Amino acid sequence: MKNIFKSVLLIFFLTISCTKDDSLGNDLINSNYPYKQQVGYSANDILSNKKFTDIYIEVMYVDGFKPSSETLTNLKNFIGSRTYKTNIIVEERLIDIPLKSIYSIEDVRSIEDANRSIFSIENQLAISALFLNGKSSNDTETTTILGTSYRNTSFVIFEETIEAASNNILGPSKITLESTVILHEFCHLLGLVNLGTNMVANHEDTAHSAHCSDENCLMYYLIENGKNAPHWIKNEQIPQLDANCINDLRANGGK
Ligand SMILES: [Zn+2]
Ligand SMILES: [Zn+2]
Repeated sequence: MKNIFKSVLLIFFLTISCTKDDSLGNDLINSNYPYKQQVGYSANDILSNKKFTDIYIEVMYVDGFKPSSETLTNLKNFIGSRTYKTNIIVEERLIDIPLKSIYSIEDVRSIEDANRSIFSIENQLAISALFLNGKSSNDTETTTILGTSYRNTSFVIFEETIEAASNNILGPSKITLESTVILHEFCHLLGLVNLGTNMVANHEDTAHSAHCSDENCLMYYLIENGKNAPHWIKNEQIPQLDANCINDLRANGGK
């Protein structure tokens, strides 16, 4: 369980927040597939079609912080290009929760637990994607968390933080930054780097675990740092995975 808190953070700039809890009946949880495991636990199940042919992304957002449709299309296309899933379903749902200005990972887990309605069942693997206002309790004066993968099929995006960061005239557009963050977090669920998907060649950034040593790669750690984003997201291009990361995914059942 040493990786349980190796949750991965997409870092950036400032902001504020809100919260709440809602409850869904436990009768909706009719799956035996574990969804409270460490990040990377489901890498092979997401990449390959051995257990699950389909993937369902349940996008839950708080009022005013819905992700852009372009970003969700980018995610869908990325999943199609790197996994063997036949059907890729993305559904958005507004959730009504008491808003907070700062969310801890424990808060995030509680929100997922109270609101998630889609679980892995039969041939369909379910992913929970939460879009919140406010900021992460892990933000500091020099770094801001844009997103975090915190369970084997769950990640959170700090949408208000992304909006604030992309308001910087030197920075990437909101859609480009949002797409970069969501793909980066999703790749942690795919086990990158060395986080459930074994490395074919050694390329983990030893100083920044679970990230790639290639500075042009989507999984480079500085992509998470708001101070560096204008430099690392160039010409509105979402950074791509480098060959080492792609090789790792292929060796673990992906494309
Ligand atoms: Zn990361
Ligand atoms: Zn890489």
